[in-house]
Amino acid sequence: MDKEDISLIKGLLLKPKRIVIVVHYNPDGDAIGAALALKIYLQQLNHSIHVLVPNSYPDFLEWMPQSETIIQATKNQELCIEKIQEADIIFCLDFNTFSRVGILQQAIENSMTTKVLIDHHIDPDTSFDIMYSSTETTSSTSELIYNFIVNIMDGKKYMNKQIAECLYVGIITDTGSLSYSCNNESTYFVLGNLFQYGIDGESIHRKVYDTYSESRIRLLGHCLINRLIVMDEYATSFIYLTKEDLTNYNYKQGDIEGIVNYGLSMDTVRFTALFSERDDRIRISFRSKGNFNVNDFARCHFNGGGHKNASGGNAYKSMEDAIEEFKALLEQYKPLLTEPWE
Ligand code: 5GP
Ligand code: MN
Repeated sequence: MDKEDISLIKGLLLKPKRIVIVVHYNPDGDAIGAALALKIYLQQLNHSIHVLVPNSYPDFLEWMPQSETIIQATKNQELCIEKIQEADIIFCLDFNTFSRVGILQQAIENSMTTKVLIDHHIDPDTSFDIMYSSTETTSSTSELIYNFIVNIMDGKKYMNKQIAECLYVGIITDTGSLSYSCNNESTYFVLGNLFQYGIDGESIHRKVYDTYSESRIRLLGHCLINRLIVMDEYATSFIYLTKEDLTNYNYKQGDIEGIVNYGLSMDTVRFTALFSERDDRIRISFRSKGNFNVNDFARCHFNGGGHKNASGGNAYKSMEDAIEEFKALLEQYKPLLTEPWE
C-alpha cells in the first residue's frame, strides 16, 4: 500500500463510519476469515460493519466468531443492496475484479463510495480507490489483514483471540495447510504471531478439516477410482464430476473443495484440473506445480484467473466439450508441460 493510500485510509477510519465488507462468490476460508477478522477489528474502533457474501459458504466455517452476523445475498439481496447503498466505505476482500461478487456486482459498481481493495490475486482491476494488493510473496488475504491491522493501522493492541482464529483459518485454508503459496518467511512470521493470542491451531485445523460427512468422503473415493484420468504424456491429470455424480453423493457446497489437489499429488503430474457440472456451466479448478502458470491458463481459455499455481474458471458448454477443449489445449501446451521441473 503506498503512503498516500495509507494516510487516506487512516483518515477515513478516524471517525465512526458505516462499513461494508464484501468477499467473492463461493466464499472460502480465506474470504470468510479475512472478512470476520477485519470486522472484529473495526468494531473496536466504533464503526458499524456488515459482512456481505454473494452466496453461501461451507458449513465447516460456521463455527467462526461472528459468522452468524454474515448477510448472504442469495437469501437477502435487498438488505445487502441497502447496506451497500448506505455504506461510507466498502472493503473488497479476496477478489480483485467486480465480476467475482455474483449478484452483488451491479450494486457495488453503482456505488460511488470509497472502495478499498485488500487482496492477493494477480493483476487487480484499477477500479478501487485504495489498494492493498500483494501477490507473489503473500499466502492469503488473511495474511494481508494481519499486516493491515498491525502495521498499516498500528492496531496491534486491538488484536485478540477471535481475530487470530479467523486469520489462522484463512492462512491454512489458502495454503493447503501450509503446502503451497507459503514459501515466505512473512507467512510464518504472521502465523507465529497469531499464537500470542491463545489460539489452538490443532483444534482449528480439526474444525476445518475433520468435518467430512460420509457421503463427502465416499464422493472423494468415487473421484479417485472412477473419475480420475491421468495423461502421462502431458504430465497432467484431471477429475470430472457430472451432475449425476453430485446428486448420487448428496453434494453440498464445499464438498468438492480440496479434491482437485489429489490430482496433483502424483509425482509424475505437474498440472491438474477438476471439472464439475453446474446448471449453466462447467466449473473448473486448476492446480499446478512449479512454473506452469494456471492463472494465465484460466484467464486465456476459461474466463477465469487466480494465482500462478491455483486458479479457476468456467466453460459454458457440455462436460464432454469442456474436456475435449482441455485436451486440445494440453497438446498446445505440451512443450511447457513436459519440460524438466523440480
Ligand atoms: P478454486 O479452484 O479453489 O475455486 O480457486 C482457486 C483460486 O483461483 C482462488 O484463489 C480463487 O479466488 C481463484 N479463482 C477461482 N475461480 C476464479 C474465476 O472464475 N476468476 C478469477 N479471477 N479467479 C478465480
Ligand atoms: Mn484467498
